[in-house]
Amino acid sequence: MKYLCANWKMAMTQSGIDEFFSRFSFSKPDVQTILFPSYVHLSHVHHQIQAQPSQGSLQWGAQDCSTEKSGAFTGEISAAQIQDLGATWVMIGHSERRQRTAETAQTLSAKWDRATEAGLNVLFCVGESLEQRKAGQTLAVIESQIAVVGSRTSFLLAYEPVWSIGTGLVPCEKEIEEVHLFLKKRLGSQTLGILYGGSVKTDNANALAAINGVDGFLVGGASLTAASFQEVGSVFNLTYPDPSFNR
Ligand code: PEP
Repeated sequence: MKYLCANWKMAMTQSGIDEFFSRFSFSKPDVQTILFPSYVHLSHVHHQIQAQPSQGSLQWGAQDCSTEKSGAFTGEISAAQIQDLGATWVMIGHSERRQRTAETAQTLSAKWDRATEAGLNVLFCVGESLEQRKAGQTLAVIESQIAVVGSRTSFLLAYEPVWSIGTGLVPCEKEIEEVHLFLKKRLGSQTLGILYGGSVKTDNANALAAINGVDGFLVGGASLTAASFQEVGSVFNLTYPDPSFNR
């Protein structure tokens, strides 16, 4: 199975989502598509998917959740509330959340526990900064970030170099492969798949999908229009020379 995930961040409006769905027709039995709209659009996405039975295999989720179960936490959204809206996924540890809210291993772990209690699947994000890569610390940073995983299973993992998100900069194939194979070795039996994220576009998706250990994409900017998102996803239809790419 390959995974095609959209991170809509703080973009999109209801009419933008309607426009997306009016043009979106990507559906492959061997590619699971998962949309991550902002909290306020979870219901709208749900209604759009229900209105179009051909999109019944689409899954969706939130971009974060609270460390708390419920209670006096103004402005926060609990995993149970996300599940109550029909969503089945939550993203945890995106670098933009890590940076803006100074998330620690402890808070990430608490979010993951709340998600599991609520029955949500987790997409966990890791990735190094440019300074860390330049200092040769990439694998050490990733290693420390995945300590949160512990014995958890059946989650998606996204490798997203922080310096690649929204910049148009992408690590070379060898660099991506090195991290993915490292993650496979450490967590291969626990994850559903290991995704690459960071400036995935229509013109590089083909080459990125062919990298050993890449089980799918987490796509930001290029997921905002149906045309570019499905063009990115279409690369998973290809038959790669190495049969291990076709899992
Ligand atoms: C992201 O925010 O997770 C992301 C991968 O963004 P972009 O594709 O725009 O780099």
